[in-house]
Amino acid sequence: MIPAQFDYVRANTLDEALTLLAQNEDAKILAGGHSLIPAMKLRLAMPPLLIDIARIKDLSYIREEEGQIRIGAMTSHYQLESSDLLKTICPLPECAGHIGDVQVRNKGTIGGSVAHSDPAGDWPAAIIALNAEMIAVSEKGERSIKADDFFVELLTTALEPGEILREIRVNKPAGRTGQAYVKMHHPASGFAVVGVAANLTIDGNGGCQSASIGITGVSSKAYRATAVESALAGVRLDEQAAANASGHAADGVDINGDLFASEDYRRHLAQVFTKRAIAAATERAG
Ligand SMILES: Cc1cc2nc3c(=O)[nH]c(=O)nc-3n(C[C@H](O)[C@H](O)[C@H](O)COP(=O)(O)OP(=O)(O)OC[C@H]3O[C@@H](n4cnc5c(N)ncnc54)[C@H](O)[C@@H]3O)c2cc1C
Repeated sequence: MIPAQFDYVRANTLDEALTLLAQNEDAKILAGGHSLIPAMKLRLAMPPLLIDIARIKDLSYIREEEGQIRIGAMTSHYQLESSDLLKTICPLPECAGHIGDVQVRNKGTIGGSVAHSDPAGDWPAAIIALNAEMIAVSEKGERSIKADDFFVELLTTALEPGEILREIRVNKPAGRTGQAYVKMHHPASGFAVVGVAANLTIDGNGGCQSASIGITGVSSKAYRATAVESALAGVRLDEQAAANASGHAADGVDINGDLFASEDYRRHLAQVFTKRAIAAATERAG
């Protein structure tokens, strides 16, 4: 429970953090510390240097710009949960409310959560369902990464050495769109045994115009449930359609099995919670 020795430096600006990171390729960014510090205590991570970005004020914001919602990487789960701007337009607050406890939600950040790519983390499912765009910066400049390409493997993202996640961008929902995040909490850790985010748009005839489904907890990384999305395309979004489509929730996925939830049980949960997410999103779409 005692981390290996490390150095610590607090960056006051993003440029300062990027310079430090470029000079120390094994350094780790410290955001809320609620994943990194436990990993260091278990010696699963032993970075020689921590670059603390928690005091960089202009990394913490939620704003509307050019038809998008833009969220700074250092925005805490609680800020997202309590955002009046988000409440009316997007399921992000709902997802934030499912995370850990009050302390975790106050310190933990959306940027840290997605950069960590925990296979049972909540944000990755919502980020995929919302087709978010991740803005990464390094000393070389800025680039945009699609949510689908961002989560590469267990605890691995598409961020390159020297890059910091600066912002997450989500398009504002248009038309008859409904979104939902539902989750089965692990009774001990609170993480997702299964978590499903659905983002559905209904056309003028009541058919499914577009469906985006992100699932976490089931496999080594959060994934897009493409077979569910295909099964929903164009169909009338009733209970039978939700049941048929959700049967594909874990198609083509290597399912995790552990002491708490076997592979079969997790597959079943993925199907049940996908059906619930589709039903909730459909109802909200009106
Ligand atoms: C008791 C407990 C319960 C929890 N329950 C849940 C839960 O139910 N659901 C859930 O989803 N999570 C849960 N968490 C995790 C929590 O949400 C963390 O806050 C989150 O996973 C990491 O965010 P952080 O800001 O603390 O990041 P940190 O721990 O500081 O960093 C995590 C990783 O991301 C990197 N990083 C951080 N920010 C950036 C950035 N901007 N750019 C590039 N790399 C970056 C770090 O270098 C590190 O590798 C729980 C944690 C605890 C301690």
